[in-house]
Amino acid sequence: MFPESMVNQLRSSLRGPLLCPGNENYDAARTLPNAMIDRRPGAIARCAGVADVMACVRIAREHDLLVAVRGGGHSLPGKSVCDGGLVIDLGLMKGIRVDPVRRTVRAETGVKLGEFDRETQAFGLATTQGVVPTVGMAGLTLGGGWGQLHGKYGLAIDNVIGADVVMADGGMLTANRNENADLFWGIRGGSGNFGVVTSLEFRLHEVNGVFGGAVFYAPDKAKEVLKYWREFAAESPDELVTQGGSLHLPDVGPVFGIAPCYCGAVAAGEELLKPLRKFAPPVADLLGPMSYTQIQSMFEPFFPPGRYVYTKSNFMKELSDEAIDTMVEFVAKSPSPYTFAPFLEHWNGEATRVAPTDTAFPHRQHTWDFMAWSMWTNRADTEKNVQWTRECWGAMKPHLVAGSYGNYASDEGEETARAAYGINYDHLVELKNKYDPTNFFRLNHNIKPGTARQATGAA
Ligand SMILES: Cc1cc2nc3c(=O)[nH]c(=O)nc-3n(C[C@H](O)[C@H](O)[C@H](O)COP(=O)(O)OP(=O)(O)OC[C@H]3O[C@@H](n4cnc5c(N)ncnc54)[C@H](O)[C@@H]3O)c2cc1C
Repeated sequence: MFPESMVNQLRSSLRGPLLCPGNENYDAARTLPNAMIDRRPGAIARCAGVADVMACVRIAREHDLLVAVRGGGHSLPGKSVCDGGLVIDLGLMKGIRVDPVRRTVRAETGVKLGEFDRETQAFGLATTQGVVPTVGMAGLTLGGGWGQLHGKYGLAIDNVIGADVVMADGGMLTANRNENADLFWGIRGGSGNFGVVTSLEFRLHEVNGVFGGAVFYAPDKAKEVLKYWREFAAESPDELVTQGGSLHLPDVGPVFGIAPCYCGAVAAGEELLKPLRKFAPPVADLLGPMSYTQIQSMFEPFFPPGRYVYTKSNFMKELSDEAIDTMVEFVAKSPSPYTFAPFLEHWNGEATRVAPTDTAFPHRQHTWDFMAWSMWTNRADTEKNVQWTRECWGAMKPHLVAGSYGNYASDEGEETARAAYGINYDHLVELKNKYDPTNFFRLNHNIKPGTARQATGAA
């Protein structure tokens, strides 16, 4: 519990509501979609605007409070809520303005992906965001941002052209190519390490419908599917993004699926994806033309809030025959029917042409991102699901590089963070020393100030 004087100071400094233990809505506001996380902050500031964020930072600094920053709340390790500290909750900051002439959008950082896509698609425009509409636009973007358009248009960060950031002293900086360019570099992959980003501006692209969906095969075909997919993906044009793996379909049972999205001309996409429907008999074929917002909501039913979630993920050295053999051993073996594992994302095209040091996100050279994404519904099943996830990932380890996409990591620690920032780690430490030398913003994939040394295992 915060002392009453501090609560009064916070409350009188904010335009948005402050929720403390015992207040109505406090429990809802401290709850993250991942049921593994159960923390009780001293207060949750539901910020109404930039001034509220600035006030929170100043007061938290004055009282030496631990601070968590919450956008969409989907942090897998639960970094957006803390025990005892102050949560700066941006969820009410939903301002978004599309400029259809310049083809840009400026969005406040409480915006979720579904909201973002809806506003930009109203103008026939879009930019890369992730594939589950309830995820926060900012948390996803600041870590990198992989999605259906990354092959053609790059990661979410590759489309960011500006940001407003409330810094550790409570002041605000604008970051873009010309102003505070080092900060602009750092927030594009450096997650929340440098401040609270209150709005982001993106470049937009014309996207008028896609061809995609999913094809599902029997699990015992997984080896054949993986080998075929490997060859097929190697020839992918930039417009085509694929992901897939082992999952359960309601009313069908275990399947091995590939979910493609082709963002070029619909007829070309249909032609291109024909072989996926033919090389092995699908148990279900949900491919077709659809709107961009339709394909962007396709995964939502698989990720309802309130499930227990534990993930392990790293980029792969290569999708070798040996790696495929190992993956196949785990297909349809998860103790939970809600799990996506083993699962792969194909990283291709524009996102992989950016140099590793051009943005703070370094992993541009890898083609396959491996993940074991476990979800279950009963707390009592936690141990067996976590253990299975670790076994699956452990068996794959010889085929994985040390580096991971930080946004997919449940387990953290200094070495994981170092490997996630890879070749950019030392540069990020320099920036941290400059912009947040006391590590005020530390509930994130943390870059500790003053500890620069060449990261190992980035390859
Ligand atoms: C169901 C699901 C689907 C996903 N799909 C994808 C996908 O398709 N592609 C992909 O790339 N990733 C995906 N992810 C990973 C996702 O990018 C991360 O979990 C991301 O951190 C979620 O952002 P959030 O705003 O929802 O989370 P939050 O928990 O609100 O934020 C996560 C962290 O980001 C930082 N942060 C958030 N907002 C700000 C801000 N405004 N200023 C400073 N720091 C901030 C904070 O450190 C915070 O702890 C998915 C995750 C889940 C759970």
